[in-house]
Amino acid sequence: MTAFDASGNTVAQTRLRATVVIAALVVCIAMGVVSSCSVGDDVKGHPRTGQRSQVIAITGIWADIISSVSCGRIPVESLIPAGADTHDFEVSIQSANDLLGAEVVFANGLGLDTALLPTLERARESGVDVVDLGAHLLGDLKPIEGDPHVWMDPGRVRALVPMIASQLSALDLMDEADLTQCAESYAASLEALVKEMESVLDPVPVKMRQLVSEHHNLGYFAERFDFSVLGVMNAAPGSLSETDPRHLDELADSMLSAGITTVFVESGEGHHGAETFVKDLGVRGVVVPLYIENPPRRSADDGPAGPEDAEYVSMMLTNAQRIARALQK
Ligand SMILES: [Zn+2]
Repeated sequence: MTAFDASGNTVAQTRLRATVVIAALVVCIAMGVVSSCSVGDDVKGHPRTGQRSQVIAITGIWADIISSVSCGRIPVESLIPAGADTHDFEVSIQSANDLLGAEVVFANGLGLDTALLPTLERARESGVDVVDLGAHLLGDLKPIEGDPHVWMDPGRVRALVPMIASQLSALDLMDEADLTQCAESYAASLEALVKEMESVLDPVPVKMRQLVSEHHNLGYFAERFDFSVLGVMNAAPGSLSETDPRHLDELADSMLSAGITTVFVESGEGHHGAETFVKDLGVRGVVVPLYIENPPRRSADDGPAGPEDAEYVSMMLTNAQRIARALQK
């Protein structure tokens, strides 16, 4: 009988792999280049090619977007693992070392990565190019105060593509003309995404274009697609227990007078607070999960990813469909 370990590898495969890892480390040590040698799998499960990832993004969504600018040819690791809390993420020693070993790190900025600021500062001091994505949003596309979820507006993501491409180009990891072509085609697919989301959301009547969420994470979506944020359950991204009950009473009043009974929540998390709140409205309300902090998990039967089903693009389209369905009733 074949024995498998927790990752589904046979024991023989695992032993072989351990031998390969040890052998690789011995070579690294012998070459005196331990700091640039790393073995193992990156967060997306791609085998590493013998050195640390040169490009790191703070979140999985940004890792997907940034890698897509290069048609997926430049691998981008996510610092925060899938499913982890994006706000107030505490960096491990291992992740901090990965950051210090990268060439360029893309941070969201705007308060999302506050807990990472000391580590990012250390990386910057040691010569890592730390790019604050939020700081590159200007003019009509400027950040919205109190909401760091910039990626919820694909128009803003599209506006950042040339800057991301020029950062990647400086790394000299792929042919310049190919990179330009990939960046242009990804920018075009984001423009097409905006149009497609607009048409999905088009049937939602003007008076229903009002969003309520657990924390302030739909401001960018609202601005792009002509919605407004009616209110948020938590003024701060922390737990519901921090919310003043009077604030929830006021929110309930404004929802009832606007005829809005839907609360949008982050997919995959517990929503006990939102469910209780909706039940207490005394009318038939619903809690609808959206993909905001984490993209949907791709299942093994989904087949290989193509440019048209890149996670960010499909996740945003799914969000538009769920919002449209919830607010047309
Ligand atoms: Zn958030």
